[in-house]
Amino acid sequence: MTADVVVVGSGPNGLSAAVTMARAGLSVEVYEAAPDAGGGLRTTSLFREDVVHDICSAVHPMATASPFFREFDLRARGVELLQPEISYAHPLAGGRAALAHHDLDAACAGLGRDGRAWRALMAPLLAHSGPVVDFVLNGQRRLPENLLAPLLLARGMLGHGTPLARRAFATEEAAALLAGVAAHVVGRMPTLASAGTALLLGHLAHGTGWPVPRGGSVRIAEALLADVAAHGGTVTTGQRITDLRDLRGARAVLLDLGPKEFLAVAGPLLPRAYRAGLRSFRYGPGAAKVDYLVSGPVPWADPMVGRAGTVHLGGRQQDVFRQESLTARGRRGGAPFVLVVDPAATDPGRIGANGYRPVWAYAHVPNGDPTDPGDLVTARIEQYAPGFADTVVERRSMSAAALERYNPNYVGGDIAAGAMTLKQTVLRPVPRWDPYRTPLRGVYLCSASTPPGPGVHGMAGYLAARSALRREFGVRAAPPLSPAGPHGSRRAGAA
Ligand SMILES: Cc1cc2nc3c(=O)[nH]c(=O)nc-3n(C[C@H](O)[C@H](O)[C@H](O)COP(=O)(O)OP(=O)(O)OC[C@H]3O[C@@H](n4cnc5c(N)ncnc54)[C@H](O)[C@@H]3O)c2cc1C
Repeated sequence: MTADVVVVGSGPNGLSAAVTMARAGLSVEVYEAAPDAGGGLRTTSLFREDVVHDICSAVHPMATASPFFREFDLRARGVELLQPEISYAHPLAGGRAALAHHDLDAACAGLGRDGRAWRALMAPLLAHSGPVVDFVLNGQRRLPENLLAPLLLARGMLGHGTPLARRAFATEEAAALLAGVAAHVVGRMPTLASAGTALLLGHLAHGTGWPVPRGGSVRIAEALLADVAAHGGTVTTGQRITDLRDLRGARAVLLDLGPKEFLAVAGPLLPRAYRAGLRSFRYGPGAAKVDYLVSGPVPWADPMVGRAGTVHLGGRQQDVFRQESLTARGRRGGAPFVLVVDPAATDPGRIGANGYRPVWAYAHVPNGDPTDPGDLVTARIEQYAPGFADTVVERRSMSAAALERYNPNYVGGDIAAGAMTLKQTVLRPVPRWDPYRTPLRGVYLCSASTPPGPGVHGMAGYLAARSALRREFGVRAAPPLSPAGPHGSRRAGAA
């Protein structure tokens, strides 16, 4: 290796780390095991050339709000983040649905008796959205100047992450709506961590939104890759790093890897206590993914659901809590929580010839579950969208076990790269003030298994890169990330 910096793995965190290091004037090489770069940002044709499918992430509340991406400025780089009228919807029995309109007033009006309670929860968070997002996504290591942000979060977490959650709303609609967004934590519910997730993602739904990139998530990866290239970095795909000693020569190595893969590539080099810490890292339930090619929009019983970017299928609050807790205990059965995205509802350019379009869905299942989720997810959608099965032209399933084969960071299909308990949200992968730094000189972890955890926000990569810049290169100032100015790059996709 001749580069100053080697990054292993090209997910959003690997690429944000590469961007940050390259913009600091260092030479950067990225190595990626898969044939394509992007990690959780890949979009590809599965059944027909003219219809593309997001393989992992599809909807981007964090890529819009995160401090890294706010400065990186995806929009200025030509990535169009399309905002659905309804950020997320939660169908219920009898053709009813709870709707989280992007517009808070519309959402509150639709929630009837609970409109005031919804506003009381979301409006203060929206008023302090910047500090709230910065506090959570900066890894919660520093209290913000505006102490209202953590106080608001703490209050909401007590009200919605404890048994009090069952009494927070009067109607099934509002209770289910918040439970659906809390379920993004993928684990036992209600917990303080699930409530924290609900508050963060829930208020963003009425603020910077839950957008869908025109053309697919890969557009975000392309913008990052273009910036790495514009600053002299290189990306080699199809090269899995199996032994850290092969990277000797680089002054800093940033690993976009989870603890299991880190142990596989560096285990014998690590001190015993740190190794034991990594071994005791807990993984959460798995996701089992189904991609459909369908002949038309999902025929939701309530047509308003068709205007939502994301749809949560989990039934009433008590059903979501019971089922998620069951799944977290490793139990199969019941009616798993399913997330559905019909991206063409927000990005009509995803519709191919003959009106064929993609539908993206995944179910929460026990960690490592090898079961093909195809029939189960189809039946779950059919429950709230009768006739859906008749629109399915093709379908491809990936069990939780298969998801790990696709990406070793998703251990047992855990797409959060580690259970999102309160402890593991802050102290991942092992309790350390600087969680990115490892006991090996110059070696840093930068994946979603480090704070702030899962999602396409680029913050783990950015914070790990800042730590490496300080310690290995004596660079304390943050490199500018904005596309404008002398360090700016070409627009994404430009030659
Ligand atoms: C089905 C699914 C749906 C999701 N939906 C959303 C969503 O809608 N919105 C959202 O914000 N987030 C979503 N996520 C989560 C999001 O994709 C991840 O949190 C995010 O991609 C994590 O980024 P990362 O850079 O840490 O790791 P990853 O994106 O997992 O990238 C890690 C990369 O490292 C590579 N790698 C691993 N081991 C090696 C090795 N030894 N050598 C070389 N390369 C290696 C992998 O191939 C991979 O490309 C979803 C994830 C999944 C799986």
